[in-house]
Amino acid sequence: MISQISELIKLQDVDKEIIKTKKKLKEFPKILKEINDKIEKSIQIVEEAKEKLKKNQILRDKLELEVEDLKGKIDKKKTELNSIKTNKEYTAMISEIELLEKKKEEAEEKVIASLLETDEIQEEIKKAEEERAKVKGVYEKEKEEVIQKQKDVEVYLKELEEKRKKIASEIDEEYLKLYEDLGKTKGGIPLSKVVDGFCSECYMKVRPHVIVELKKGKDIVTCENCGRILYLEVEVKE
Ligand SMILES: [Zn+2]
Repeated sequence: MISQISELIKLQDVDKEIIKTKKKLKEFPKILKEINDKIEKSIQIVEEAKEKLKKNQILRDKLELEVEDLKGKIDKKKTELNSIKTNKEYTAMISEIELLEKKKEEAEEKVIASLLETDEIQEEIKKAEEERAKVKGVYEKEKEEVIQKQKDVEVYLKELEEKRKKIASEIDEEYLKLYEDLGKTKGGIPLSKVVDGFCSECYMKVRPHVIVELKKGKDIVTCENCGRILYLEVEVKE
C-alpha cells in the first residue's frame, strides 16, 4: 500500500504541474493578440492618414473645377457686356460679374488652403509610416519569441502527459479510480500531506489514532475534515 501512496504522490505532483502548464498555455493567445493589436493599430494610423489625403485631393479637384466654372461664367458675362443697351442693365451686369469674381477668389483661397493641408497630411503619413516600421520591427521580434516560448511549453506539456501515463500505469486500478474521483471534487488535489499533525490542505488537526493508522501503512486513510487521502512525510520516495 505504501508504494501505491508514493506513486499517487508522484501522480499528484505531475497533475499539479500539468494544471499549471495548461494555465500558462492559455495565456499565449492573449499575449499574441495584444502584440498583433499594436501592429494593426500602427498600420491603421497610416491607412487613416492616406484616406485623409485622398479626401483632401477630391475636395481640391472639386474646388479647381469650381474655379474653372466661375472663370467661364465671368468670361461669358464680360462678352455679354458688349451687347448691353441700357445703363441700368450694364450696372446690373457689372455687379453680377463682381459677385462671381468674389466667389472665384474664395474658391481660389480654398485651393491654396487645401494645398497647405496636403503638405501637412504628407508629413503625417511619413511619420506614421516611420512609426509603423518601428513598431513592426519591435513587435514582430517579440511575437517570434512568444511563439517559440509557446512551442516549448507545448512540448513540456506533452512530456508531462507521457510521464503521467507512465506513473498511472504503475498504480492499481482501485487506487487510481479513488484518486481520479477525489480529484474531481477536491480541485485536482486528492492527496494531502500531514505536517506537524495537521492536514496540509484543510489545516485541520489529524487525530492521534488516525496518525497511528497512517503509520501502519496498511490502508488508505482520509482526512476526517476534507476527505483527502492522507500521507506522512516519510512516504515521499523518489
Ligand atoms: Zn484535510
